[in-house]
Amino acid sequence: MLQTRNEPRRTIGSYWEASVPVLKPDRQLIGNATFEVAIIGAGFAGLSAALKLAQSGVSVCVLDAEHVGYGASGRNGGFCCLGGTKLDERQLIRKFGLEEARKFVAYQVAGINLVAHRLDSWGVHADRHSKGEIYLAHRLKDIESLRSNAAFLKENFGIKASLLSRDELQEEGYGGPGFYGGLRMPYGFALNPMAYVQALAEQVRRAGGRIFGKSPVTGLTRDGDRWHLETEHGFVRARKVVLAANGYANENVPKWLHGRTMPVMSSIQVTRPLSDAELSAQGWTTDTMASDTRVLLHYFRLLPDRRFLFGTRGGVFENAPALAAMQKRARADFREMFPAWADIEPEYSWHGHVCLSRSLTPFVGAVPGLDGVYAAMGWHGSGVAMASISGEKLAGLILGKLRAQDLPLPLQRPFRKFPLPALRKLYLQGAYWWYGYQDR
Ligand SMILES: Cc1cc2nc3c(=O)[nH]c(=O)nc-3n(C[C@H](O)[C@H](O)[C@H](O)COP(=O)(O)OP(=O)(O)OC[C@H]3O[C@@H](n4cnc5c(N)ncnc54)[C@H](O)[C@@H]3O)c2cc1C
Repeated sequence: MLQTRNEPRRTIGSYWEASVPVLKPDRQLIGNATFEVAIIGAGFAGLSAALKLAQSGVSVCVLDAEHVGYGASGRNGGFCCLGGTKLDERQLIRKFGLEEARKFVAYQVAGINLVAHRLDSWGVHADRHSKGEIYLAHRLKDIESLRSNAAFLKENFGIKASLLSRDELQEEGYGGPGFYGGLRMPYGFALNPMAYVQALAEQVRRAGGRIFGKSPVTGLTRDGDRWHLETEHGFVRARKVVLAANGYANENVPKWLHGRTMPVMSSIQVTRPLSDAELSAQGWTTDTMASDTRVLLHYFRLLPDRRFLFGTRGGVFENAPALAAMQKRARADFREMFPAWADIEPEYSWHGHVCLSRSLTPFVGAVPGLDGVYAAMGWHGSGVAMASISGEKLAGLILGKLRAQDLPLPLQRPFRKFPLPALRKLYLQGAYWWYGYQDR
């Protein structure tokens, strides 16, 4: 017998939590319930799958350990942009061939368009801004690779990216002593991710899907022709299960996941609103979303209320000393890159998990050996568009409207285990030190 209970939300102190009017509580599952499909994780991926399934008349529930948008979907930088893999376009072509690489890039563009279309059709603005994005060369020598990339992207993918010189950057309001040139990409826009994920959840509810908060799934076992998802105060029985917990996944639910993903940290700081004088002093007046050419990149943008959002990658461990070191590094990088704002302390700072895989590509499909279990995970720090479209496509697979081979090849390969999984964070830490050294 199904009952629910309201539990207080767990907050993380992000700007996004403060910037949306009402954070709806998700009621906790108490007792037992049966659904056709049960989804683990109420982020962009899980909710997108739920929306499509509910709209197709399938009985579906989403279980989250905390609440809608508690994971990366409510914590990210809000760059709805290309991405989802750590392989660049050249590597994609080498690994999967030109046709599949093109298909994959077209899929990323379709993801951006899907998010824009959703927001438009739901009448949700979500503080959108920025036409496309820009990659900023953080060293003189990186301009050459931006130039060759522009030509490569045009020739192989028909992408018309434009190169900006250092002077042009200054003229267009991308002021900073460490920006030597830029490559402007014509795709993507920025949004308030919490506003988007809340709107997505609301659409799921309206379509008849159920969302349970404070209901971590602690076990997944086979029970006749159904799966049995254990939670603290009850269980769900479902014919099909979707794993959509990404960087927040419990590695033992199911055991197949163990050692196959690598959660790493990304951190964000947001300043108070900046005055005209402060913006001019730095020379940063553009609302275009930007990132730099470091491997451990920084991403930043001026928000519509003129706060400045500054994000970093590169944290591996989540304990207090490691997080303090990550924040300290982020502050130092911010001061160096935006010296006119060196004394402006962040009003908000937080961090979250992104999910890497061994192949450096996501996986969207049926989990081998577990009949009726599917996964949509591994967005490599770029999941706003990629998780949204992939959740929807995964629902298409479940509904039998899509075949696995209809997806771009880079998405079709189930995650392999990392070598020596217990040590994977240690060797990643080593790799990050090396990247940090190279980035300098
Ligand atoms: C700081 C930061 C900045 C980022 N910036 C960007 C950006 O600007 N642009 C971009 O495209 N991407 C960005 N990303 C990545 C992007 O946010 C993610 O790829 C995307 O949100 C993942 O969505 P998801 O639905 O797959 O998973 P998530 O949103 O992480 O959701 C997973 C959910 O699963 C739940 N869960 C976990 N285990 C269980 C369990 N056992 N039972 C029940 N529930 C469970 C969690 O509570 C969580 O809510 C960023 C990520 C971070 C952390």
